[in-house]
This record gives sequence, C-alpha cells and structure tokens, in this order.
Amino acid sequence: MRLSRSFIPTLKETPAEAQIASHRLMLRAGLVRQTSAGIYAWLPLGFRVLKNIERIVREEQDAAGAQELLMPTIQPAELWRESGRYDDYGEEMLRITDRREREMLYGPTNEEMITDLFRQSVRSYREMPQILYHIQWKFRDEMRPRFGVMRGREFLMKDAYSFDMDYAGAVVSYRKMMLAYMRTFQRLGLKAIPMEAESGPIGGDLSHEFIILAPTGESQVYFDAAFEQIDYLPRGGGGFSHDNADDLHRFFTQMTTHYAATDEKHDLAAWEKVAPEHRREGRGIEVGHIFHFGTKYSKSMNCTVAAPDGAKVHPEMGSYGIGVSRLVGAVIEASHDDSGIIWPDSVAPFKAVIINLRRGDAVCDAMCEALYARLGNTALYDDRDERAGGKFADADLMGHPWQIIVGPRGAAAGKVELKRRATGERTEVTPEEALGRL
Ligand code: ATP
Ligand code: MG
Repeated sequence: MRLSRSFIPTLKETPAEAQIASHRLMLRAGLVRQTSAGIYAWLPLGFRVLKNIERIVREEQDAAGAQELLMPTIQPAELWRESGRYDDYGEEMLRITDRREREMLYGPTNEEMITDLFRQSVRSYREMPQILYHIQWKFRDEMRPRFGVMRGREFLMKDAYSFDMDYAGAVVSYRKMMLAYMRTFQRLGLKAIPMEAESGPIGGDLSHEFIILAPTGESQVYFDAAFEQIDYLPRGGGGFSHDNADDLHRFFTQMTTHYAATDEKHDLAAWEKVAPEHRREGRGIEVGHIFHFGTKYSKSMNCTVAAPDGAKVHPEMGSYGIGVSRLVGAVIEASHDDSGIIWPDSVAPFKAVIINLRRGDAVCDAMCEALYARLGNTALYDDRDERAGGKFADADLMGHPWQIIVGPRGAAAGKVELKRRATGERTEVTPEEALGRL
C-alpha cells in the first residue's frame, strides 16, 4: 500500500480519553476509531492486525481438531429461557424486539445456540466427540467500557464448544484446547499463563484464565518463571501433541504444577516455596478463558446422544473463549516503547515500510518502486512528500517490524538502510540483501 493514498489517519497529539498505552497507540497510529462508547471501527491498519490474529487463532483451533462454523450475532430469547440465563444475565445483555414483537438479543456468548444446533443433529456416540467454534462479534453492555478495545461493548471473540460422551472425554477436550491456547499465544509473541479461575456464571468445576503481564492489567497475578521456558510449538519433534493422551497429560500436569494464581486464589504458603528468582508478579490482563461445565446446558436444554447400549446420555460440555479484538490491545501492551508500537512479525499489518527520503530523486524513486514491486501488499511504501523526521516518527509509531530506508547518498551507491524496529539496529545493505533478511 502507498502511504500517500492510504487511509491511515495518524494523530500527532495524544488523545485525552486514552488512559493506557495500547489505547493511545491504537488511536495515534490510526488503527481504530470509537463510534459509540465501547464500540470501534477498525481502520485498514488495525483491521490487518485483527485479521492476522484471527488467522493464528483459527490455525491453532483447526490443528486441535476443532471445526469452524459461523453462528449469527442475533439470537432468539427462547433459547436463553430454556437454559434459564435470559433473566440471570442481567443488564449486560442487549435485548432487542423485532417488528413482530419477538424478543431477540445480541449474543454475549453462544452456549445455548450451539447446544440447540447440536441437539438437532447429533444422535449417536458414533458422531462424538465434537469441538465446534466460531469467530464472531459479541455484545456485552459493560458497565464501564474502557481501555479501548480491551474492554469494549462490541468485541470479537473466538468461542469453541466441546461435546463428549463422558467426563474423561471432556477432560481430553479441555486439555487439547489448553494446548491450542498456549500455542496460539506463543505465536502471537505473548507469554500467557494459565491460572485456575472461578467458573462464575457459566458454572462448572474446571476453569482456567490465560493471563499476560502488563502494568495496566485489571488484577494482580503471581506465577513461576518456569512457564516462560516452555516451548509449546511442535517444531523439531519436541513439545506436546494434541493427539496423544499421555502428551496431553504431561502438558496439563506442567500447566497445573508450576505456581500460577490471580489475587483471589493466591496462596502465600505455596508462593513462598517458589524460588525467589523464579517469582514473577504484576498486573495481568485476561486474554482467554476456558471452562468445563459438564451437563449444565445439555440437561437444561434436553440435549441427548445415544450411548452404545442405547441409553440416552447428556453430553459433557466445555466452552473456550479467546478475546481476538482484546488481543490487539494486549499485544501492544506487551510490545511498545516511547516511540510507538513494536509488532511481533506474526501479527504485523505490514512486514516492512519502505521509506523514501527524497521523493522526486530519480534514483531513490526507482529503488523504492523496485522494492515495492517485489514486496507488494506485504509492505507499506511511504512515498509521501514529508520531511524525513515525520516519516521516521510515523514508521516507529505504526511499529512495522522492518524499515527499509532509501536516501539519496546510499541509493547512489546501491545501498539502503535496514532498521529492525524491535532493537533499533540499523545496517547498510543492498536492496537484495534487505529483501533476503525480511
Ligand atoms: P472479563 O473477566 O475480562 O470481564 P469475561 O470473564 O467476562 O472477561 P469470557 O466470558 O471468559 O470473559 O470471554 C472470553 C474472552 O473474551 C475473555 O478472556 C476476553 O479475552 C474476551 N472479552 C470478554 N469481555 C470482553 C470485552 N468487554 N471486551 C473485549 N474482550 C472481552
Ligand atoms: Mg473470564
């Protein structure tokens, strides 16, 4: 994309309404704009990041054997009456009446709807187990929407739902999802720690929140640095597999033996047994949450599956959420400096920005055009008529992992400067070498 023609409305001033770094930077770098309290439009730069995060989440769900579908945002109230949550959910639920006076709602989550779809179609243990997921907008009329996309009212969530014949099966599904989550967060460049959680209004007996450290987090958390050493990705033959119950057991044991707790569950005696140099504590942001809740919905909504002996069994269920739009803010919270965002390569909106320091100079223009032709839509080409300082500042603010800087002196000698945003390191290389490095 050519910056001169793009819709990336950056701001010079720090917006007064933004209290935390990610919110400030998302507004300043032109990623989002608020359209109502807690509701945001995703502008081109922000949308590319959102899509990249969504893609990684999807790839890891698929790898774990979950199947993607897409449920609507608008749901009928009857389904929620069946589970009893229509009244329980309270003011966070946005209720709507259509022209025929039918009560509808904008979905805050989808346990009821997925249970309904499932009970209509699955009859036999032979079709089990199943994990289904979608990536869809949710609405929760939060009392205090704040911190930009971190606590919005409309937000994008990946929510998966597992159905198993028995508790043992449900535990396997739960562990598979937990592993998929750890891989997802690692690929996003985040150190997310699973912490045992209260299962809250969704109910159930097994639940973990995935928390990353950031100074602006909403709760105090404590964990053992051992988590930071674990590689969850299946490269080099090591790591854990989703398809092997022993692996999943070994994985889950590690996740639950190293100390990790939020304020509410913090246990001082256990904490003191963690070696002092291994103690990590700080504010935490929840980026995902998984629950096993047994037969709460399958029973209340009369969903049954025939077991091998013909008996009708209520499936054991779990649900598994990741805040996709919250993650855009969370990644920035975890990776920025005074000049702006520092995107991990995996989610960056563009791999690189090509900075033309002397537009109109034939050599600079030709070199930039040639680089841009090679990189295509994976690069942003800063071809604006701006002074160099402004271009550097915008490149740092937008956080592209690489900057290819083309100035008249270097270009005349067949060289560009390649800058790595994360380290600030600059090297003089040929355009070909620069392309090779990206
Ligand atoms: P919280 O404790 O932050 O209110 P929750 O427990 O209500 O979250 P879940 O129902 O577990 O959230 O939703 C799954 C994920 O969706 C959360 O882990 C979070 O990443 C994301 N999420 C929840 N509420 C919001 C929101 N208001 N804005 C953005 N993301 C959200
Ligand atoms: Mg939660």
